[in-house]
Amino acid sequence: MSHQRWDFTSLLRKRGFRVTPQRLMILDAVCEGGGHTTAEEVYHRVQAKSPFINLATVYRTLDFLHDQRLVVAANVGSGRMVYEIAGDTPHHHLVCQDCGKIEALANELVQGMYGEIKNRYFFTVNEDHLVMFGLCKSCQSEKEK
Ligand SMILES: [Zn+2]
Ligand SMILES: [Zn+2]
Repeated sequence: MSHQRWDFTSLLRKRGFRVTPQRLMILDAVCEGGGHTTAEEVYHRVQAKSPFINLATVYRTLDFLHDQRLVVAANVGSGRMVYEIAGDTPHHHLVCQDCGKIEALANELVQGMYGEIKNRYFFTVNEDHLVMFGLCKSCQSEKEK
């Protein structure tokens, strides 16, 4: 997965934020994860290039990038947070609590549910990275044995 770094640059500038090398480096490190990546993994990638960046800075910057919706974040169980570059369209996951497998959950399915929630509760869901926990197919058959 690649991201358009210059789009992000102009986006941040338009919103009145400074585009620091640190922010770009951390954004790149998230991108290099090619999907879900933890703050620690981001930290190690950044460390290889710039040993002066500490873990607290990585966390703070990830929070900032998340607030700006440039990265999406999700708790994938046991308090483990993962980050990834926000795509053009929302994407979602099914996480198996037994084996930890993460599957993609079709956005149209989720949007259908969001539409239904809007109809019934007049509530607009803003979650663009939904994570649902349960048991995957193979873990279920494991349980039936
Ligand atoms: Zn994801
Ligand atoms: Zn499983």
